[in-house]
Amino acid sequence: MDILVIGGGGREHAICWALAKSPKAGKIYCAPGNAGIGEIAELAAIQVHEFDRLTEFAKEKNVGLVVVGPDDPLVEGIVDAFEAKNIPVFGPRQNAALIEGSKTFMKDLLKKNNIPTAAYEKFTDYESALAYLHTRSVPIVIKADGLAAGKGVTVAFTLEEAESALKQIMVDKVFGESGSQVVIEEFLAGQEMSILSFVDGETVRPMAAAQDHKQVYDGDLGPNTGGMGTYSPLPHIADSIIEEAVETIIKPTAKAMVQEGRPFRGVLFAGLMITPDGRPKTIEFNARFGDPETQVVLPRLKSDLLEIFLAAVNGTLAEAEIEWSDEAAVCVILASGGYPASYPKGLPIHGLDETAADAGLVFHAGTAKNAAGEWITNGGRVLGVVGLGRDIAEARSRAYASAERIVFEGKHNRTDIAAKALV
Ligand code: ATP
Repeated sequence: MDILVIGGGGREHAICWALAKSPKAGKIYCAPGNAGIGEIAELAAIQVHEFDRLTEFAKEKNVGLVVVGPDDPLVEGIVDAFEAKNIPVFGPRQNAALIEGSKTFMKDLLKKNNIPTAAYEKFTDYESALAYLHTRSVPIVIKADGLAAGKGVTVAFTLEEAESALKQIMVDKVFGESGSQVVIEEFLAGQEMSILSFVDGETVRPMAAAQDHKQVYDGDLGPNTGGMGTYSPLPHIADSIIEEAVETIIKPTAKAMVQEGRPFRGVLFAGLMITPDGRPKTIEFNARFGDPETQVVLPRLKSDLLEIFLAAVNGTLAEAEIEWSDEAAVCVILASGGYPASYPKGLPIHGLDETAADAGLVFHAGTAKNAAGEWITNGGRVLGVVGLGRDIAEARSRAYASAERIVFEGKHNRTDIAAKALV
């Protein structure tokens, strides 16, 4: 069966890589993909927002399945566009992707169903929001309602920071329409974890749990990024906490979506905080695979990813074989100098093919090839090097050995990915 994967980052590289292992997989197309993905899939130069061109392409190539990676097209209704043309597609429809597309929708859904999350109030009016803010103490969290490329959330430790975030969102409208509503939310202390699940309606099949490192510098310092590294499993977090999160948060949310007439089919990503009393609470829901969580979760999947996607699309997810290896995986992101602010592109990357040949897993996020066929940088996050091992320590040392061998001008990476898990 031929497949079309939509997106062009490290997440989509990992998805294509996992799909390519399936005996059922024929040709894999990726739109728009990136140069690394081009080594295992045929790239189509179509952007993720070009729904007409994408559906036409899928029809023309007669693909048996479409898999959507990024959030924006899901929230814009890409799955509905494929379904309208009778093309099988894995991902939530627009009405279900709203769980990521609107934080007020998500928070209201959780509140209505008594699902654990931080206390909050929502506002459409700046003056009322400001007045409410002045009744609260810091730290406090200010969130733009809609998608804001991960930049719409401010964890404010002073009132001035909170006021400034509110003004930026509601008055200066730096996130446009995404800021027409705002959520002001209780600050939750604790440890974050992500649980991704394959979901079809009320059927929830959790994947291996993972932890991301959002800040650019070691010790969780500096501005937030798309993610600087991940690891899985989480040996320092008890299985009982993960089970509690699945039973008290993820399953009830999937059920609530069905009750709302918005059944979710796809990957439901729960961002959770394990609060100091050991109870997990919801921070966010995403309607797709995480990036770079996918890069450590899929290498641990022993079962056939294509079969799982097809089971979800065909309504048989509950019976699908989904097994995880006991191996640990650590992903270290190699970023361009300057990222997450502005950075140069087009710099030669050395040692990439040798490292990939010896050590295996290198997922490309922002790479291209120059006229001479050599690898060059082409994004903020350039590569995700993944180490696998018997435990986190082994996986981590393998990931860092690979990270050192790959060189480009200005390269930077965190040196403390998964350090917390070295118990
Ligand atoms: P992304 O999609 O990039 O993860 P987002 O814009 O959807 O981000 P959230 O995940 O809601 O935003 O928040 C981003 C980060 O802010 C979280 O990963 C967490 O570290 C922090 N955060 C959010 N809400 C809270 C909260 N209530 N208490 C403490 N920290 C929070």
